Amino acid sequence: MGLIIDAHIYLYPPTVFKEPRIWAQKWDESHWAECVDPLEKKSIQGWADIDQLLRDMDSAGIDKAILLGWYWQNEETCEEQNRWYSEWIKIHPDRLIGFANVHPAAGKRALDEIHKCVEHGFVGLGEFHPQAQGFDLRNPDWLKVVELSIDLNLPINIHVTEPVGHKYTGRIETPLADYAWLAKKYPDAKIILAHWGGLLPFYELNPKIKEIMKNIFYDCAASPLLYDCNIYRAAVDIVGPEKVIWATDYPLLTYPNKDRQPSFQRALNEIQSSGLKENELDLILGENILKLLKK
Ligand SMILES: [Zn+2]
Repeated sequence: MGLIIDAHIYLYPPTVFKEPRIWAQKWDESHWAECVDPLEKKSIQGWADIDQLLRDMDSAGIDKAILLGWYWQNEETCEEQNRWYSEWIKIHPDRLIGFANVHPAAGKRALDEIHKCVEHGFVGLGEFHPQAQGFDLRNPDWLKVVELSIDLNLPINIHVTEPVGHKYTGRIETPLADYAWLAKKYPDAKIILAHWGGLLPFYELNPKIKEIMKNIFYDCAASPLLYDCNIYRAAVDIVGPEKVIWATDYPLLTYPNKDRQPSFQRALNEIQSSGLKENELDLILGENILKLLKK
């Protein structure tokens, strides 16, 4: 079996998650606060510090994990998280991979931050969530970020919400057609659409869309919260095993009725018993993302 890489996790210092609402207020991050600590619902957010993360990776046999930047509403918060990540990827270069985030509305400051992050060892961008961050996919500041990702050969992870689905905290509509527009406009961008691209893979049954979506990859972060396990076989049959990237959304509790602590194990078991063949699993669990990260 090849390497196992989780391409979509988050990590925060304990000072942040001890009292997330207080921290969020200080940084003016109301959307994040509502996602991780909703006022009117039981939270499905779990927390882990770096030692716990590494223990959980070890116990599930996860070789590496990509720290994704949250889609903060402010550039300052993006930069704050980039600093934490910068430190952690330096301490554990063999286990942790950094994706930087910025707020496109910060203009030149955001572009400078991307350059700075690359110097500090970051190898990708995201997770962006245009709508939660207050812009749409055709916004000129955002397109400059996409163009820089092409120049610097950085894969870029973008959140997608499924247009038809259940209600949950933090849910914001993200029109699917915009992603196809972006893919068509930037065939050289390496785009990873999170959460199965909101089921965009199924539109690849249209050969014209399949052609446009050539440079699009799909991660399966939070899949157990959204879909039953038939999605793995169904999506791979349509887009091919080369376009799917394994991810969990750790430390989110993706089996909230079974686990009250973050874990990789159940999500890993789910994909490994989903009817995918050995060679497909090798691609999805590690080889595809490694190929994307290759310079
Ligand atoms: Zn997301």
